[in-house]
Amino acid sequence: MPYRPALSRMLPYVPGEQPPPGKYIKLNTNENPYPPPPAVIEAIQKAATGPLNRYPDPMATAFRRAAADALGLPGPEWVLAGNGSDEILTMLVRGFVGEGQKLRLPYPSYILYRTLADIQGATWQQTSFVDDWQLPAAFGQADDDLRLVLIPNPNSPSGTLVDKDDLESIAQGLSCPLIIDEAYVDFASDDPKQFGKGCIELVQKHENVMITRTLSKSYGLAGIRFGFLIAQPSVVAELTKIKDSYNCDALAIAAATAAMSSQDWLRDVVTKMNQTRGRMHRELAEMGFEVTPSHANFVWCRHPSGGHQGIYETLKKAQVLIRYMDFPDWGDGLRISVGTDEQIDACLALIRRSI
Ligand code: PMP
Repeated sequence: MPYRPALSRMLPYVPGEQPPPGKYIKLNTNENPYPPPPAVIEAIQKAATGPLNRYPDPMATAFRRAAADALGLPGPEWVLAGNGSDEILTMLVRGFVGEGQKLRLPYPSYILYRTLADIQGATWQQTSFVDDWQLPAAFGQADDDLRLVLIPNPNSPSGTLVDKDDLESIAQGLSCPLIIDEAYVDFASDDPKQFGKGCIELVQKHENVMITRTLSKSYGLAGIRFGFLIAQPSVVAELTKIKDSYNCDALAIAAATAAMSSQDWLRDVVTKMNQTRGRMHRELAEMGFEVTPSHANFVWCRHPSGGHQGIYETLKKAQVLIRYMDFPDWGDGLRISVGTDEQIDACLALIRRSI
């Protein structure tokens, strides 16, 4: 078949294992172990009464209003809704990077960025994080061929944060957009005044700074697929041209709108998960793991005696799924999502027995 040459050079993006619900304690894809707020279920039930024979609002206006209100943005024109933040990332790469052009990302980070570049027939340039998971100066170097720079903040798999001031200087030195993927930002700050703010201030100051967010993690809605872009209105207007006409369905828009309006629920669930994360960190460190301090709903850890893949497999046999990750030229380790306290007890007990 006459596929585009870019496809023959690609390997498929392999997402985390998604077994049917029930069989495993699932700590491998950074979902929320708790169900979404009751207001979300009510909103879905109400939306299911119709009219489902009609197309949904193409711009998800109710959601954009609720998001702007919850995040203190000047208005809904600063928000673009998508079918998961992966779709928003797809729109950004499609919008800014053409065949043969280049994007830059840190390493190790979210593997999907490379896949999106490959689909475009673009090239990518990886800059390794330095030892303490900060970015080397080379990451901000201007380059005429560069069309997009992407960074998850907090990063995955490390859960670490790059300072806002560093991101601002990077953005100012670039002649292309800087995309800050804030999928995990709600878990990042212990300061209630900073909750959920992330780098919004930078978006308001610089047209080339754009943020992606998701409802799959802190809001507990991985199953409905909803994410969004925060960018200056001119950017949102331009990217609207390349989105699918009806990219978010009516049930998802209703659910996501109710979720954005449930900020008290969100703060409570995040506080609870961050407490569990602290306990995971302490107990893994007591077992001899090097645990990276996390600002996300997972922890990244490595044992000096290795054996990470074996630990992953032992846990899988005992119906506990965590993530084993091996990054060429960097090393391997385990990424464990925050679960309920009971789930984490079971997971830690198994790890204790398998090291
Ligand atoms: N960005 C990062 C850094 C992620 O880890 C994930 C989850 N795999 C996403 C984006 C995608 O989230 P969504 O479910 O909104 O597509």
